[in-house]
Amino acid sequence: MQTAAFNLPNDERVIREKGAKRVMLKNVQDAKFAKTLVPISRVVLSTSDRKDLSFEAFFTHILVHELMHGLGPHNITVNGRQTTVRQEMKEAYSALEEAKADISSLFAIQHMIDKGVLQASLERPLYTTFLASAFRSIRFGINEAHGRSIAVPLNYLLDQGGFVVRPDGTFTVNRAKIKEGVTGLTREIMTIQVQGDYAKAKALAERLGVVRPPVASVLRTLANVPVDIEPRFTTADQLLK
Ligand SMILES: [Zn+2]
Repeated sequence: MQTAAFNLPNDERVIREKGAKRVMLKNVQDAKFAKTLVPISRVVLSTSDRKDLSFEAFFTHILVHELMHGLGPHNITVNGRQTTVRQEMKEAYSALEEAKADISSLFAIQHMIDKGVLQASLERPLYTTFLASAFRSIRFGINEAHGRSIAVPLNYLLDQGGFVVRPDGTFTVNRAKIKEGVTGLTREIMTIQVQGDYAKAKALAERLGVVRPPVASVLRTLANVPVDIEPRFTTADQLLK
């Protein structure tokens, strides 16, 4: 998978002492949007929803996704013992943390829209672009942290009614329910993290980290759409010559 943005270092001690840095690779995001997300949206979304696909929403979601990795619980206390979310979640950590960043960034962007920090016109494209992009990420495979983690918000919102499968097999956003679904899952994941509850993290991943039939049938029709881009580093190639 080509990285579109990163947030490093991962070491909690270094972050505590020196902080972390977020980097956005906009040319990579431009290419991913044009070569994978636009063709995916033509299959996943109904005609009326396609106009709400937007690069600005895609970019802002990635940016705030990275910011949300830095927010939320990190250093926690479990039964009077000082520990970290990473330590308590063991091998379930990466997928849960990715799901947290994906869902809580929708919550954070909506919060900034409600406060007038971001434009209200971002609201419609935000959820529609996230919906189409979930089908992009899930194609990295359910055995990879980003592929598996995106199944959690996707299935949660489908179960809760914020996302709906239409009779023709395309997907749409239910504007009346989506915000409540985003808030609900953000609360659920961050509560698991702050309590360091490994058993609940496992249960959530087992219940929602799966590909169900309506999603699987759309994924089958995407066979001709590339899973990802493959950059060519032309300057490096020229210098090596
Ligand atoms: Zn991430």
